Amino acid sequence: MTQYVFRFGGGVSDGDETVRGNKNILGGKGANLDGMASIGLPVPPGFTITTEMCTAYYANGQSFPDSVRAEVAGGLAHIEQVTGKAFGDAANPLLVSVRSGARVSMPGMMDTVLNLGLNDQTVEGLATSSGDARFAWDSYRRFIQMYADVVLELDHGAFEEALEIAKEDQGYYLDTELSADDLKALVAEYKRLVQAEWGKPFPQDVHDQLWGAVGAVFGSWESDRAKVYRRLNNIPGDWGTAVNVQAMVFGNMGETSATGVAFTRDPATGENAYYGEYLINAQGEDVVAGIRTPQYLTKAARERAGAKPLSMEEAMPAVYAELARVFDILETHYRDMQDIEFTVEREKLWMLQTRSGKRTAKAALKIAVDMADAGLITTDEAVLRVDPMALDQLLHPGMHAATGILTARGGMTSHAAVVARGMGRPCVSGAGSLQIDAAGKTLRIAGRTLHEGDIITLDGSTGEVMAGEVPTLQPELVGDFGTLMVWADAGRRMKVRANAETPLDAQTARDFGAEGIGLCRTEHMFFDAARITAVRQMILADDEKGRRVALDKLLPEQRKDFAAIFEVMAGLPVTIRLLDPPLHEFLPHQESEFAEVAAAAGVGIEVLKQRAAELHEFNPMLGHRGCRLGVTYPEIYEMQARAIFEAACSLAVAPVPEVMIPLVGTRRELELMKDVVDKAAEAVFAEQGKRIEYLVGTMIELPRAALMALGICGEHGGDPASIAFCEKVGLDYVSASPYRVPIARLAAAQAALARK
Ligand code: ADP
Ligand code: MG
Repeated sequence: MTQYVFRFGGGVSDGDETVRGNKNILGGKGANLDGMASIGLPVPPGFTITTEMCTAYYANGQSFPDSVRAEVAGGLAHIEQVTGKAFGDAANPLLVSVRSGARVSMPGMMDTVLNLGLNDQTVEGLATSSGDARFAWDSYRRFIQMYADVVLELDHGAFEEALEIAKEDQGYYLDTELSADDLKALVAEYKRLVQAEWGKPFPQDVHDQLWGAVGAVFGSWESDRAKVYRRLNNIPGDWGTAVNVQAMVFGNMGETSATGVAFTRDPATGENAYYGEYLINAQGEDVVAGIRTPQYLTKAARERAGAKPLSMEEAMPAVYAELARVFDILETHYRDMQDIEFTVEREKLWMLQTRSGKRTAKAALKIAVDMADAGLITTDEAVLRVDPMALDQLLHPGMHAATGILTARGGMTSHAAVVARGMGRPCVSGAGSLQIDAAGKTLRIAGRTLHEGDIITLDGSTGEVMAGEVPTLQPELVGDFGTLMVWADAGRRMKVRANAETPLDAQTARDFGAEGIGLCRTEHMFFDAARITAVRQMILADDEKGRRVALDKLLPEQRKDFAAIFEVMAGLPVTIRLLDPPLHEFLPHQESEFAEVAAAAGVGIEVLKQRAAELHEFNPMLGHRGCRLGVTYPEIYEMQARAIFEAACSLAVAPVPEVMIPLVGTRRELELMKDVVDKAAEAVFAEQGKRIEYLVGTMIELPRAALMALGICGEHGGDPASIAFCEKVGLDYVSASPYRVPIARLAAAQAALARK
């Protein structure tokens, strides 16, 4: 029989080697709770219901098999035994959290219920056993509020409003100002709301509460926001989520209690310094939900921000020291930067979660390089640690600045910030002095009002917000980026080239480490205002003689284009694709243009219109274009080939031109066009009295050609998945747009290393 429940904490870490730490079965959170427990860190005891149960739950029409009920009873007995408390016991009640946890973290995307196990009896027991009635009633009202929201799916707003009214009635500003009696009254109001909205009283049976919550966590796997998050992040729907049931520890037991979120390094910059936030007298949800703006973890960070409220390092030095020790143990154990949730209950530290932290591309580079330098990981591992696509953030200055996130509430570890960081968007959160008027679509700050559509610039690393558009820097491969690229190149087999057709693009590509040009399209060179007239003359000419007159005007221009690119690529291979699009693309499309073009080309308007109509292609991807145009008018390719070889011969360091015949569908087409290119090359070599190396080939781009070829060549792109495929089939190189060259270098290295 499948085991669906695994226990952790209190010296227990269930399961055999296949289950221990297995994220596929225990989910990420469960596997790491188990992992932390197994290395002796302070983890509140609990148990995990596996992801396999989630899948089975959906397969069984959303119901639980009886065997699981017995297993869950065993899990509860474990928690009771370790804590010495009993679930539903009126005198010494055990409270638990019910937490979701998929294989990969989906921050804030699925629901958690805290303080479960409270009812009208146990709340009194908790008040007595803790000696703190205020705390007990606060926990009960939180529980009802959360349960009503997550499990009963009642309107969240009504409960928020009741809380606000309770505070206003007393003239309070903070939740913490509410007394035990205030909270008792609020609980009564909450229960009335549940009865009114749900039509039944709030569940008093703690086992009903538990199964309701477990069902809701499984249910949240199919919530709209979870589905959208999965779609955005390519997470399969059949993975399911695990459910973790864990003894509650309380950060809201007064001034010696707290809760916090931390990273073992700075996730924005990668700096090797503890980074995080905490709230005194609060529960975990308060930090991540962004309701109160939290305090800094370290003294240095507080001072740097010029903030007054004491850091944890200053306010709770002993617990902070213990936390720092745990940070170091976790980094060594998991060999990566960790994102951690913790709670302090009356000066005792409890670890509630750890996972590899999301980070910016800049931080990913720095952390990978620093960890390799420190010997924690190898340089190959460092290369494998950085997501090639994330480098995009560093390679397009400002390009994504238009999409950033600025919030008035919450801290730097709030969900908004974490999710934004993962998406590579700059985020500045908790800018408390912003006054946002959502209805009026305005934002006020320091006497200034901004409206919808106004541009602001965010620096997600420093938290600065600047009015207007601030110039950004051209990226360079220096520092950690440069170091990682050197390591990546050492692990790489395939070459990386760039797609480029201007000297500027070619230079950018070289600066980013391209080893040649994989695709230089020539048609763009014809659209230049000075040349288009000659191109049109060539198209409108009646015979070859007329075409050659026009082509003679284009030859020196093309030669200049190629010479400039070859010079930048000094000796490297350059693949040049001969003219590809159908000719009508060069003719005017609008009535207003016809007269002007006809005059410039020296033909009548009617001739021009007729020619345009003749050349019009019904299907722009097929028809009379590419090599088929070359077969009809070989003098076009002859001119281009001549320009290529004359340019190549004119340089001191000859490049290796690779002439690409476009849109080849059959062998014969390639043979005919290769002959044109070879003849042009021989003619130029004879005139110049020198020879250079060159290649003639084609790009297989028609399905017909792909089906008929024996192999394929030159998969172009900066897409890591395609690059991995190219590595697998043994291709020589990939070619990407200049800004993607570093991404391709890293992806090619990762693909090669993955095969080792
Ligand atoms: P998420 O996946 O959204 O981060 P979690 O399951 O981690 O949700 O729970 C949200 C918050 O509740 C966390 O910040 C954590 O600190 C708090 N929490 C969860 N379980 C417990 C517990 N057993 N005791 C105290 N706080 C808890
Ligand atoms: Mg969490």
